Amino acid sequence: MSKPIRVSGIIPESIVDGPGIRFVLFVQGCPHHCPGCHNPDTHDFAGGYDLDIEDILEQIKREPVFGVTFSGGEPFAQAGALLPLAEEIKKLGIHLMIYTGYTFEQLMERGDESTTKLLQLADVLVDGRFMLEQKSLTLRFRGSANQRVIDLPETFKQEKVVISRYSVRDGEPF
Ligand code: SF4
Repeated sequence: MSKPIRVSGIIPESIVDGPGIRFVLFVQGCPHHCPGCHNPDTHDFAGGYDLDIEDILEQIKREPVFGVTFSGGEPFAQAGALLPLAEEIKKLGIHLMIYTGYTFEQLMERGDESTTKLLQLADVLVDGRFMLEQKSLTLRFRGSANQRVIDLPETFKQEKVVISRYSVRDGEPF
C-alpha cells in the first residue's frame, strides 16, 4: 500500500495550469513562504487532508484530460509519496507537469532517489520561487520571470536545462 499524499485540493479540469485540459493536484505543505504567494493556505504541513493514490487515480481516469499537474504547496516536499502516483499517470500515457519552489539544480543536488526519479518521469517542470518583484501577468504558466518552464526529457537527454516549447514564442521564453 502506497503512502497517502497530503493534499490541499483538486481541480478536475483546468486550462491555466499547463498545456491542454488538466487535472490539478494541489499538495499541502510548503517551506518556501514566498512573499505574495497566491496560495498561502497550502503552506501549513499540518493542514489539508490525506488522499490515497488509488482514490486520486480513480478521479483522474474519470476526466478526459491531456495532462495532470502537481502544484502546491511544494510537491517535492512529498517526492516519495508522489512518485508511485507519477508512475501510474505515465503508464496511462498522460502528460505530467510539476510546479516547485526549488530550482531544477537544487533538486538534482539533493541526490535523493525519489526526487530524481520524479524529475525523470515528468514532462515539464516549472521551477523557482515566486518573486513578487519579477511578477508578470503576461508570462505563460508561471507567475514571475525568474521561473522557468523546463522540458525535462530534453534536459536529461542534452544534460543542460532546456526550456519547454510550451513557453517559447519567437525563440524567446514568454
Ligand atoms: S513555492 Fe509556491 S506555494 Fe510555496 S510559497 Fe512559493 S508560490 Fe507559494
